[in-house]
Amino acid sequence: MNTLAAIGFGANLGSKVSQIQAARQAVTELPNTVETAFSPLYKTAPHEASGPDYINAVQLIETALSAQTLLGYLQAIELAQGRQRSFRHAPRTLDLDLLLFGDEILCSASLTLPHPRMHERAFVLAPLLDVWPEAFIPGQGAAKELLAQLPPQAVELL
Ligand code: ADP
Ligand code: MG
Repeated sequence: MNTLAAIGFGANLGSKVSQIQAARQAVTELPNTVETAFSPLYKTAPHEASGPDYINAVQLIETALSAQTLLGYLQAIELAQGRQRSFRHAPRTLDLDLLLFGDEILCSASLTLPHPRMHERAFVLAPLLDVWPEAFIPGQGAAKELLAQLPPQAVELL
């Protein structure tokens, strides 16, 4: 059975736009997975982090993979594009977060669903709403209302 999933893309080192594009292509080529939408690119100031501005985007896919298998593939794509895990919130060439996986709620050692910080991040909610205006975050609420309640964050279309 196919599940509708949302993936968050971020990059703030190197050729940011081409890294996002290469990662988008790599996800599209995963087995039993099709892209249904890809948001516009956003330029965002680092949030709880330092370094250059980020480029962010959100992709919607339909997939027959399990959430855990999909996360494994996303981490392999990060590694293939040269991400080094130095410290939490460190600048990175590529960050792929599994935001939503159907309406699954999960908290395991390696995977939390929905992504635990997505509801407080304008750079996630804005592109998510572009491709899915009715998006609902299980346990949190409607993405549109969550974004409206956030304090202003420096997030603009590229
Ligand atoms: P962040 O994206 O919050 O800056 P990292 O990408 O460095 O942090 O964190 C990745 C870690 O978070 C991985 O060890 C992964 O197992 C864990 N993780 C838990 N839930 C998720 C999720 N929904 N999407 C991506 N990574 C997750
Ligand atoms: Mg991440």
